[in-house]
Amino acid sequence: MGKGRQAAEEPEGRAAKRQRLDAERRRLPAWSAREKLVELVRQNQVLIVIGETGSGKTTQIPRFLYDAGLAKGGLVACTQPRRVAAVTVAQRVAEEMGTELGAGKVGYSIRFDDRTSPNTRIKYMTDGMLLREALVDPLLSRYKVVVLDEAHERTVSTDVLFGLLKNVCRQRRDDFRLVVMSATLDAAAFTRYFDGAQAAYVQGRQFPVEVMYTAAPEDSYLDAAIAAALQVHCDEGPGDILVFLTGQDEIESCARLITERAAALPPPEVANGAARDGGEDEEDEQAAGRPRELLVLPIYAALPPEQQLKVFQPAPPGTRKVILATNIAETSITIAGVRYVIDTGFVKSRSYSPRLGADCLQVAPVSQAQARQRSGRAGREAPGKAFRLYTEASFRQLPPATVPEIQRTNLASTVLQLKALGIHDVLGFDFMDPPPRPALLRSLELLLALGALDSQGNLTKPTGGWLARLPVEPMYGRVLLASGQMGCSEEALAVVAMVSTDVVFHQPREKREEAAEAHARFRSREGDHLMLLAVFRAYSGVTRKGGERGAWCRSHFVNPRAMRKAIDIHTQLKEHLQALGIPLRSCGEDSLPLRRALVAGLFPHAAKRQLDGSYKVIATGQAVAIHPSSVLAGKKPECIVFNELVRTTKQYARDATVIEASWLPELAPAYFARQHANAGQQQPQQAQPQHANGLQHRQPQQRPQQHAQQNG
Ligand code: ADP
Ligand code: MG
Repeated sequence: MGKGRQAAEEPEGRAAKRQRLDAERRRLPAWSAREKLVELVRQNQVLIVIGETGSGKTTQIPRFLYDAGLAKGGLVACTQPRRVAAVTVAQRVAEEMGTELGAGKVGYSIRFDDRTSPNTRIKYMTDGMLLREALVDPLLSRYKVVVLDEAHERTVSTDVLFGLLKNVCRQRRDDFRLVVMSATLDAAAFTRYFDGAQAAYVQGRQFPVEVMYTAAPEDSYLDAAIAAALQVHCDEGPGDILVFLTGQDEIESCARLITERAAALPPPEVANGAARDGGEDEEDEQAAGRPRELLVLPIYAALPPEQQLKVFQPAPPGTRKVILATNIAETSITIAGVRYVIDTGFVKSRSYSPRLGADCLQVAPVSQAQARQRSGRAGREAPGKAFRLYTEASFRQLPPATVPEIQRTNLASTVLQLKALGIHDVLGFDFMDPPPRPALLRSLELLLALGALDSQGNLTKPTGGWLARLPVEPMYGRVLLASGQMGCSEEALAVVAMVSTDVVFHQPREKREEAAEAHARFRSREGDHLMLLAVFRAYSGVTRKGGERGAWCRSHFVNPRAMRKAIDIHTQLKEHLQALGIPLRSCGEDSLPLRRALVAGLFPHAAKRQLDGSYKVIATGQAVAIHPSSVLAGKKPECIVFNELVRTTKQYARDATVIEASWLPELAPAYFARQHANAGQQQPQQAQPQHANGLQHRQPQQRPQQHAQQNG
């Protein structure tokens, strides 16, 4: 069936396809600017390029520079904050150039997935990967041109790369070019930071977009989004719909509901009161007012690359696409054909709270700038409409711009990388917007406690150097290193791979009980990490042949993609450990060494039960509850360590394991020096950081809806 469809789509020959793609390229605003851009890059070591989203910056500019010979003897790198963008754009450029992705001139590199070869000349990569390469080669001597794309996103890695590349420019005066690209019109901040660098503008075109708000706040933005999508489909003329949601779970359940409800809609003819007989042809579609079928297409980071590319395929005649996206569709990728945007007003973001001493993943309102970007996506090819699922008053209450990530996330791995790059004075590093001092100090303290830095703040050898190179957060890196000494590195590798992959357990709404029963087989009284280990072991035990692993996943309600990825990460981490000379040993069925190894890295996330049965994070005194999804929920062990905090109605500790309180002072003596017997009742040696601007979590009360209620 799939094959038949493929065949129908393939009549376009190779040459015809190249021709079509060439014509498409030539229509992009970046095309008209190409000679000017190339000339400016030739003459300026640093160039800032500003251009509307969709104008062809990412797909075209690296190639212009390559074609003009500016990368002679080296590569062009183009960084992306998002993995999806790196992959889909590389795929597109490879197609446009008629070369094989990975093996030919165009490749990409994202964490745990490197698709480059000695032939690679244009390399799309996440900003985090380029930062990692700088650890090995601080002057990035393989690259003749580095394009820092999506600079307006201001991710931590891009911000750090700003500082590093400024230095590379000073040292490689003649043979290096830096291009900083941004979709926001404010070039001034970049120009100032890069010592008055020249800015060039790619003239985009934008059609008017009519922005609509809800009259009253919505109870559930998900229900509202589903209803809005169906309403647009029924009432509006041709054009695809782009819906902004916050994450994979939400997107998957929305996709299911929209598909179900769209199938139940009356055909357009009937809806329009113009009943016709069944044999009409596609040409009558216009007359009917709207396309007949709705194709639901999700796009988010964890979706496999082949599926990510599906959103770019034009909707077949008579159909309309509804694309359910995270904020990757805000500026990183542009999907042709979108005329309607539905903006829930939310985004999932990771933020670090020194008060909680942990990163926190939460759904937060977007900024006004983000809301404008989102609406703008409706007007790229023709006038469009944007439906904001919040009131106009709420919009005015939103923060004008997004706070740069560096001012709100955990900086431990960033600080560690700076140290490994030989930048000792991290507080004095040339940041475009320096992170708050307390956050930097906290990271330094954490790295000290993990043994990555000594008391002078120098990188320790070998521990600090190893932790900087392992492609996981320093806390997990420490777990891996400790496991070598504790005789459980096999198990620790499996656990770290499992926590680094996507959501493992699949819980379809309609089969909730069946899924819970299947998952129950892996339950462990000792916690979620052991449960993940059990899944990993069981899966690894199934033969690779004959699709048995897929069948195993289906019958156990386990996400096959997440498992394949976990195996992949496991292999790569194992190679790292072997390279570091860490012995691979198994503790068999005895969980004790593994739980102790977890403590050796996750101790800042240790929480202790209080007299009233609630929990407090020992290091910070913050109240947390065990996440309802945990096997420990309702079990009330005395002491736990956990992976991360999730904030919904309250602070939840996700992925927890039972530990002994007495292990803490033993395995992290410096951190718990004053704790000893009465852990949890008092503060550890760290000073409570003061509140600094930008560090506090946005409270859930700040949801736009509720603003509106306060105002209304
Ligand atoms: P910018 O970086 O300025 O936002 P891009 O270079 O990403 O613009 O996009 C230019 C054009 O290329 C857009 O019209 C977009 O739809 C198209 N495009 C980008 N990636 C793909 C892809 N994987 N498949 C099809 N079209 C793509
Ligand atoms: Mg781009």
